[in-house]
Amino acid sequence: MQIAFKKVAKESLGFESVKQGVRFFGRLFRKSDKLVLLKASLVGEISHVCDRCGGDLTLEINEALEIFVSDGIYKGKTDEMDVIEFYDGFIDFDEILQSEIESIKSDYHYCAQCKN
Ligand SMILES: [Zn+2]
Repeated sequence: MQIAFKKVAKESLGFESVKQGVRFFGRLFRKSDKLVLLKASLVGEISHVCDRCGGDLTLEINEALEIFVSDGIYKGKTDEMDVIEFYDGFIDFDEILQSEIESIKSDYHYCAQCKN
């Protein structure tokens, strides 16, 4: 799912995208000419493998996410927040969700047996 930057006006705009069993939903807020704040939740389950024994594992996802998305290259500074840049005038939610899923998977996860 994609939303054009220009559609995010003074009124906030809702969105929802589902990928690999994870629901990604929230609202977009216009912050400046080039910058939109995305406040979202990630809820769902991801199949994964245990980092110790390689056994199957289901990761329960329930996370809040706040990031800025920039219409083109972002030149200003954001204090501690992440900025994701898009270059074609559209916010691509599948791409954001994919990168969040990858980042969750890149942490270490252990199955119930290996945790103990
Ligand atoms: Zn294990």
